[in-house]
Amino acid sequence: MRQENSICFSNINQPESWKIENYMASGGYLQWKKILQGQPGDKARESIIETVKSSGLRGRGGAGFPTGLKWSFMPKNEKQKYLVCNSDESEPGTCHDREILKLNPHALIEGMAIAGFAMDATVGYNYVRGEFIKDCYPIIELALQEAYKYELLGKNILDSGVNFDLYNFLGAGAYICGEETGLLESLEGKQGKPRFKPPFPANFGVYGMPTTVNNTQTLASIPKIIEKGSEWHKDMGTDKSPGANIFSVTGHVKKPGNYELPLGTPFTDLLERAGGMMDGKQLKAVIPGGLSTKVLPRDIISNCTMDYESLESAGSALGTGAVVVIAEGTCMVELLKRTSRFYYVENCGQCTPCREGTGWLYRLLQNITQGKGKESDLALLVDVANRIEGNTICAFGDAAAWPVQSFIKHYYSEFEYMINNHGKSIAA
Ligand code: SF4
Repeated sequence: MRQENSICFSNINQPESWKIENYMASGGYLQWKKILQGQPGDKARESIIETVKSSGLRGRGGAGFPTGLKWSFMPKNEKQKYLVCNSDESEPGTCHDREILKLNPHALIEGMAIAGFAMDATVGYNYVRGEFIKDCYPIIELALQEAYKYELLGKNILDSGVNFDLYNFLGAGAYICGEETGLLESLEGKQGKPRFKPPFPANFGVYGMPTTVNNTQTLASIPKIIEKGSEWHKDMGTDKSPGANIFSVTGHVKKPGNYELPLGTPFTDLLERAGGMMDGKQLKAVIPGGLSTKVLPRDIISNCTMDYESLESAGSALGTGAVVVIAEGTCMVELLKRTSRFYYVENCGQCTPCREGTGWLYRLLQNITQGKGKESDLALLVDVANRIEGNTICAFGDAAAWPVQSFIKHYYSEFEYMINNHGKSIAA
């Protein structure tokens, strides 16, 4: 395993890295131009999809689905096809896509152009989180104008016969629009309510047309993978988790931030990169992949490497790579209550188990923290969570259930203590 190699953050340390001239000076848009100036037909499309497939790149938005395979699902017919980038970064703890939008926007634009060409999608949308209106949006919008000015987007680009028009679209600030079909609804101007699947977006996406939705980091990785080849990408990370990933480390660490490291990096190394524990505190637990993933106590996470298989076998997931570090002294009951409130207020209300269940979980936890809890509430919390999991239209329901199941599994005695002591925390 090679120890370090930047993909999405490769040129962000140079001054004004977001400007097209600086991106081009470090080799930016060369891959796109090569495609356009080669023979941009079906063979070239297949070759790009093969390279991405054999690179082993997995979607960085949370699910980790193989990107090349997803691209190959797009039907080969005459219909209008679309590529959509999910820049609706809202998973609590996650803050790396916004850095790409701000510091390396042309890597995303070039990645989208290449991906659009590979799937014969002539129109792309970059769906940007509404809260990014002030900092990221103006930069990505300016970058888009620059790319048009240099005639790298549009119709018959560089006389190649290839068309690709790209638009930025600003969301209105709803967590559920990060779910790909909720996002498509929102893009169409409707409420961001996830759709039943199947049909999947590859067959029925935006405006009912074949659509692929990829995450920002995934698409921004494409130019480097095309430039350096699939073997280069596979040489980083592990067999089943190739490449590098941007980890957003937050919580009780000295140097919270984004760290782009090979997948398979030991958790202890990542913690060291983030400066170690704040104020000399001891590590208590980690939520390793964004709020929607299961919490892992110190003894388990300390033996994990940061990749899909290690975290799954430990009982959690890599998710969005948002690593929330929790120190001893933190009340896990209070933390779970806040977590549950998030899912209670952010669900779209479309299906009963999620709409009613998330409110029920939050109220039970509120009762416990207010000293009104009963011992039977703990079994009830798990029962409600189990009845949400797997019984909803979208994965939001599972995401609301998993924190409850894992917090109670690993920290049962803390919940029990608070109930028996009328709301007093064992951590106090
Ligand atoms: Fe909406 Fe929740 Fe149902 Fe997803 S699981 S569709 S967020 S109510």
